[in-house]
Amino acid sequence: MTERIGFIGLGIMGKPMSQHLLNAGFPLTVLDLNKSAVDELVAAGARAGTSPKDVAAQSDIVVTMLPDSPQVEEVILGKEGVLEGLRAGALVVDMSTILPSVARRVAQAARAQGADALDAPVSGGQVGAQNATLTIMVGGAQAAFDRAKPIFEKMGKNITLVGEAGAGQITKAANQIIVAGTIAAVSEALLLAAKAGADPAKVRAALMGGFASSRILELHGDRMIQRTFAPGFKIKLHRKDLNIILNTARELGVALPVSANITEMMNGLIANGSGDLDHSAFVTLLEKLANFEIGAKQM
Ligand code: NAD
Repeated sequence: MTERIGFIGLGIMGKPMSQHLLNAGFPLTVLDLNKSAVDELVAAGARAGTSPKDVAAQSDIVVTMLPDSPQVEEVILGKEGVLEGLRAGALVVDMSTILPSVARRVAQAARAQGADALDAPVSGGQVGAQNATLTIMVGGAQAAFDRAKPIFEKMGKNITLVGEAGAGQITKAANQIIVAGTIAAVSEALLLAAKAGADPAKVRAALMGGFASSRILELHGDRMIQRTFAPGFKIKLHRKDLNIILNTARELGVALPVSANITEMMNGLIANGSGDLDHSAFVTLLEKLANFEIGAKQM
């Protein structure tokens, strides 16, 4: 039996992800506050839902791809929310990046009414969503994971059930610590090299073969040099992830001084109007402190 899918949240990530499900032949009901995104999917063959409750009533599996914990709580647990329309035996798959504690609460609430839930945040960004090559980190029961696997395989490549409810979000938090730290390191490295008079493009190319090479040096390093700061992944969303990380660390009694510093710097970028830029624009704060812009002077 082909599962009927509901998809709520058709932003930078959710639109291409839901399009892949439609292309694969899954009957799809979509919802977003942004009508033009809904219209695009409807033109491609999806149905428009009228509320999260309505989407759930028309679906066997409901996928959410929303900005943050409050939106997920509102859409799934709130009034006219997914749980109000969800049938026993249905499955909720939240692919947003949110607090692990909220993911566990969603799973408990779904199970309490005879349904189930997975937290399944992703890594790989807009390009990964467009090319269906996302890394998907999953928390929940094995049976629910096996059921969702065919739809995960239409959106991603490296798909792992890490553990029980919340384990997907913990894995995503670990991912975002590494991404934030590496962006900060790449920013400092290219800025230092450029202000010393070296061509940052050549420095990046030289480092790509060695121990410091990474996807972030490759992609975000290039963005910093080319000044292509259109998102991508917005600074305000990465700061949101860092807040999730720091809150979770505080609950657990884990000190994360590097992540805390980067969060403060992102606070500064957001206060200065850069929150909607790609997170590679992190470098611009360091550039202000150095009174020097990468690419401004090249040998
Ligand atoms: P986005 O802001 O582009 O999209 C979010 C969408 O949710 C918007 O279209 C918005 O209108 C919709 N929305 C918000 N509240 C809603 C509600 N109550 N009902 C219906 N629709 C609602 O964000 P995005 O970049 O697509 O990110 C989505 C999630 O994926 C976030 O949690 C983000 O951290 C995570 N993520 C993003 C990336 C990336 O590179 N953009 C990568 C990995 C993970």
